[in-house]
Parts: sequence; C-alpha cells; structure tokens
Amino acid sequence: MSSAQPTIFERIIAREIPADIVHETDTVIAFRDIAPKAPVHLLVVPKTPRYRDVAELAAGDPALLAEVVATAHLLANEHADGHFRLVFNTGANAGQTVFHVHAHVLAGGLTEGSLA
Ligand code: 5GP
Repeated sequence: MSSAQPTIFERIIAREIPADIVHETDTVIAFRDIAPKAPVHLLVVPKTPRYRDVAELAAGDPALLAEVVATAHLLANEHADGHFRLVFNTGANAGQTVFHVHAHVLAGGLTEGSLA
C-alpha cells in the first residue's frame, strides 16, 4: 500500500518532480537514472507503490514482474544493442535505497565489470 511518505518514484510518477521519462504505460514507467552507472542506465518502475522490492512483486503479481522484464528488453533494443544487465537491489544491505520496486537496466557497453 502507499505509505504516508511517498517515495521519490511515486513523486516522479505523479509528475511532482521531473525525470527524463523514456517509456510509460498504464502500469509501468521508465526513466533515466539520475546517477548513471553505465552509458545507458534506465529504471523500470511498476506504477503501483504496493511492492517494496522484487521478491514482493514476484510473489504478489508475477505478470507485472514479467512486464518489467519485457520493458527492459524493449528499452535495451531502443537505447542500445539489445544487450542488457538487469539489477534489482533488494534490501538495504544489498544497496536498495528506494523502497518502491524498480529494475535497473544497464546497457551500452558493459564489458568491464562483468559478473561473469
Ligand atoms: P536503488 O539503490 O534503490 O536500487 O536504486 C535507486 C536509484 O534511484 C539509484 O540508482 C539513484 O541514482 C536513483 N535515483 C534516486 N533519486 C532519483 C531521482 O530523483 N531521479 C532519478 N531519475 N533517479 C533517482
């Protein structure tokens, strides 16, 4: 449910603060990360504030999680060569700072720092 204190992403969705929005449907929005960690660094965010992280989203609405992944693929094709890394920081000890589920889409040349 929406918390009393809206997250920064709720405020972006409500157009209360600006963002460089690259994609939007009734259910998801995507915009450029304000502090990019790759040549292409987009955030794909389900509009509902119901889910704090990807574990909650997977349990509560797997179809919406699939839409997030499909949107990441679409955007990697539009903004890069179709190759992308998808990151869901989950929990403060894993680096999550905004507790409104979001996927980081990193693309555009990631040969350095590969996890593989
Ligand atoms: P997390 O650390 O929760 O996985 O990711 C949050 C991301 O949101 C960070 O990469 C951070 O740079 C980004 N971010 C935080 N505040 C803003 C903002 O006001 N606008 C945009 N576009 N990105 C933000």
